[in-house]
Amino acid sequence: MDLLQWNIGDVKVIRVEEHVLPVPSEELIPGMNRLIDTHSQWLKPWAVSEANEILLSIHSFLVISEGTKIVVDTCIGVSSQMPVPPAEDFPERLSEALGTPLENIDVVLCTHFHMDHVGWNMREVNGDNVPTFPNARYLFSKAEIEQSGPDSENYDPTVMEPSVQPIIDLGLADFVESDHEITSEVRLVPTPGHTPGHVSVLISSEGEEALITGDMTHSPIQFAEPSLCSSFDWDTDMSTATRETVIERFVDTETLFLGTHFAPPTSGLLRSSESGVYFSVTGNE
Ligand SMILES: [Zn+2]
Repeated sequence: MDLLQWNIGDVKVIRVEEHVLPVPSEELIPGMNRLIDTHSQWLKPWAVSEANEILLSIHSFLVISEGTKIVVDTCIGVSSQMPVPPAEDFPERLSEALGTPLENIDVVLCTHFHMDHVGWNMREVNGDNVPTFPNARYLFSKAEIEQSGPDSENYDPTVMEPSVQPIIDLGLADFVESDHEITSEVRLVPTPGHTPGHVSVLISSEGEEALITGDMTHSPIQFAEPSLCSSFDWDTDMSTATRETVIERFVDTETLFLGTHFAPPTSGLLRSSESGVYFSVTGNE
């Protein structure tokens, strides 16, 4: 499989795909269907199919900065309640893309605790549930862990029990602030709303910049229509406000957006025109 990769200054980013699924747009983003025609010129065919389905990609981003190897989000894996099974060979594909065994991954960052972002934190080997990245520190935002525990209304045992709690129990987790610096080139940015402690990842190097969205957006149409919310958004007012803030900060800049759920080509710039903001696909190397 061809890998998409980007160089952001000295930082390398590689996309490793688990699945791309066609999902009925109304199911994932209620209210979207009637707005597709307005934006179809830049949405189709890569982000939305001719049948108006969202082409939802499930992938990890490997980020290599200052010698530190980081996995951003671990896809479906063992905690799958998704309509598709995990891709059994996904760990091997990650390792192949990186050109080194998974034992050499330094950091795993989960943007939030949903099943398609933490699934491969653990995997089954000879009947045992073991960490997929045994020598990595797993970074979880404090705000996310504080509001996803067993006493919280957000607690989802189908996600936390197989994929998050074992990491904590094994002493592999670090609870970090939502603006934590992983390296001098890679840091977290709080983007709450989809979940309470949701984070995105900002990469800055040699005057170049990129933002890994996480689930702040599920489709690039949400940059044109920020009040369109995912049916999985925890607080829709907050997720809308987060999108509005991000759009205002980055529209018409050279910051490359790397969409966590965007199908290939996955990356683009926020641009404005007389008819509003749109997502301009660009940037693969
Ligand atoms: Zn997701």
